[in-house]
Amino acid sequence: MSKRTDGARRASNIVHALKCPVCGNPVRVEEGGRLQCRESHSFDFAKQGYVNVLTRPAAGHYNKELFEARRRIMRDSGLYAPFHEAAADLIREFHVPASAPSVIADIGCGEGTHLHRVLEELSGLNVAGAGLDIAKEGVQLAARDFQNAVWLVGDLAQSPFADGSINTILNILSPSNYEEFTRMLAPGGRLIKVVPGAGYLKELRETLYSDERRTYSNEETTGLFDRNFRRTETIPLRYSVRLGRAQLEDLVRMTPLSWSPDPEAVRNFLARESAEITVELDLLVGEPND
Ligand SMILES: [Zn+2]
Repeated sequence: MSKRTDGARRASNIVHALKCPVCGNPVRVEEGGRLQCRESHSFDFAKQGYVNVLTRPAAGHYNKELFEARRRIMRDSGLYAPFHEAAADLIREFHVPASAPSVIADIGCGEGTHLHRVLEELSGLNVAGAGLDIAKEGVQLAARDFQNAVWLVGDLAQSPFADGSINTILNILSPSNYEEFTRMLAPGGRLIKVVPGAGYLKELRETLYSDERRTYSNEETTGLFDRNFRRTETIPLRYSVRLGRAQLEDLVRMTPLSWSPDPEAVRNFLARESAEITVELDLLVGEPND
């Protein structure tokens, strides 16, 4: 089976959770690998098996190199492995068995490893995953390597997800749209938002900066969450992972360009064999306000 056909087949399993991003009508999966609504808006699956539902071109802030660096570091170092287990445990905890698969949507899925790994942890449970990102470079990598989810290039502001259709929203180190999250969530559905803690990658921050960017607080982000959602649980994760030189290079490469560190500081950071790197993440779990 070609990747295009296989991607379309996976989408047909969760077609009830999808809608036309142009007119909002339900979509169906057409023969040959195409999402189409009754107004004939249609979106072809690419040969890699993802579907691009963007209604206008989007300017990407991330490039392919950044996504490839993220991919390698996650594969080689287990940097986020404890997080994947914790997220899967949470989803398992509030999973309600039903005949249709419970849909997990990763909003801002990037190159897809987080969703892919969480779904692997949940094997045996009747769940289906969908990853959405506005960056085509990320979604292409996801579709190329991970055949256990539906991969979509799209904009949350022109959402391809139907009302009340998503059981779990994962939103990992990525911007939120609480109005959309509220609309998409099924009754009893949960949002799991992952925000960095003060110590997240602090070794990188402390080495690369001499100014106020050395420190970070998630107060603003969690405050926004609490104004929009009722928080039911918070899972704090803190651990460290020793990274070798190649992985430290990837760590710098996967850092958003907006951090724009001093090149001299980057050279110093990379001039060592290995380093302990701290991962500190808060998993905020919530339900929409009534
Ligand atoms: Zn339409």
